[in-house]
Amino acid sequence: MKLRELMSPITITHSADESLKSVLSVIAARHYSCALICEYEKPTGIITERDIVRLAAAGRINDEVTVGELMTKDPICVSADTELLDALEVCRSRSLRHLPIVDNTQRLIGLVTQTDLVKAHVATFEASDQLKDQNKKLHILSVEDPLTGLPNRRAIEIDLKHAAAVAQRQSSPYSLALIDIDYFKQFNDNYGHQAGDEAVVHIAELLRTNLRASDKIFRYGGDEFLFLMPLTSLEGAAIVVQRICDKIAASQFRHEFSDLGFLSVSIGVASSYTTDWKRAIEDADAALYDAKDAGRNQICLAECTQVSEFWDLSKRTELDSPIVN
Ligand code: GH3
Ligand code: MG
Repeated sequence: MKLRELMSPITITHSADESLKSVLSVIAARHYSCALICEYEKPTGIITERDIVRLAAAGRINDEVTVGELMTKDPICVSADTELLDALEVCRSRSLRHLPIVDNTQRLIGLVTQTDLVKAHVATFEASDQLKDQNKKLHILSVEDPLTGLPNRRAIEIDLKHAAAVAQRQSSPYSLALIDIDYFKQFNDNYGHQAGDEAVVHIAELLRTNLRASDKIFRYGGDEFLFLMPLTSLEGAAIVVQRICDKIAASQFRHEFSDLGFLSVSIGVASSYTTDWKRAIEDADAALYDAKDAGRNQICLAECTQVSEFWDLSKRTELDSPIVN
């Protein structure tokens, strides 16, 4: 089931300069559980009942304060085509109770609450006679990779869309990196598939423990990971990612069948400030190929035509060459 079938249309939105008091009177009169703040029909903030209770307890509600000063900025939004289970997982992992729904131009078109999602999920579950089939579907639709516990490819779209929308609104780029294990086929062929699984878990663990709070890592598929760095420039990303590449090499995980003698990764990094996140992945993928071609165990930066207005990066560059020409 997709959110399109569940969402409630939005009848009232607010602007950030409205007084909190007037927003509260709308919430109270209409029995809403949150208010959405928009700019040019695009959601820029949210304030929920829970926020209001917390703000009242902190003595922050007064006649002068505007909703823009107190709202949670840049709420996570999802598309109407998002699957019910994916939306539930987003709510669970981020402790969200409201998910604004946007169209493909990021304009607000609806809202679902966690309660709507749970009710719909229970209804579909109850409606099915075939519990076994449901469990199978649940497993397939799961957004968590069972081997590493990282969010998988299915989870990427929601986070990338959000990072891209924020980047575009704030004219400040996000970066992403594709990370691929070097000579992993040889690793499997020589040490066996189980040892290969342990190596994947080892890399996943190093990636997870070296994340900044704002960043997110996904298992992209096979021996590849995707690393999302919201509000991070290409230069900033290059520094973070080079550190990760070095840490993996320094962990000296044995791989006698690699030219290097230890397990390593190659990484392609790209940046974008547009909503064309698929293009950003393609850019990172092209840079990853460059890193493989250049000998592996290293990072390469994408040509990044998408950020050329921000930085003068005229050609694909390895980190040890000057980054900005
Ligand atoms: P390169 O350095 O160019 O990346 O070479 P490679 O040998 O790593 O080549 P490639 O990335 O194409 O091979 C990936 C291999 O990873 C193939 C597949 O058998 C193995 N693999 C993918 N996922 C898993 C997994 O979950 N567990 C194990 N054990 N192996 C996996
Ligand atoms: Mg590989």
